[in-house]
Amino acid sequence: MAEQCIFCRIVAGEVPSDKVYQDEDFVAFRDISPQAPTHVLIIPRTHITSLAQLTEEQKELAGRLIIIAKRGYRLVINCGPEGGQLVPHLHLHLIGGRKLSDRFG
Ligand code: 5GP
Ligand code: ZN
Repeated sequence: MAEQCIFCRIVAGEVPSDKVYQDEDFVAFRDISPQAPTHVLIIPRTHITSLAQLTEEQKELAGRLIIIAKRGYRLVINCGPEGGQLVPHLHLHLIGGRKLSDRFG
């Protein structure tokens, strides 16, 4: 666990969250600032900073991240500051429940 990481603290139960799914390796909870009626963040319990830090050994974990989200509408992973990533703990945004306005909006 990364001490200062808000998502690690959510995984540890130190920060409250509205969880919608959890298993041995992942937790999914509602985004605090939803961009659509459904906006869920799916994160690995283990601290991985971003997509850029994923290793070949973690390919099964990466695959399962997407399988968990397969009922979603739009999946987004922001990577690094240039990619608009604000929280440096790998997470997948699952966004839906409204007509999404354009391909990237
Ligand atoms: P990023 O820009 O890093 O891809 O997105 C981070 C997301 O985490 C944002 O959509 C933000 O609203 C959400 N977020 C940040 N802090 C918290 C928190 O403490 N609880 C929850 N549920 N979501 C958070
Ligand atoms: Zn973390």
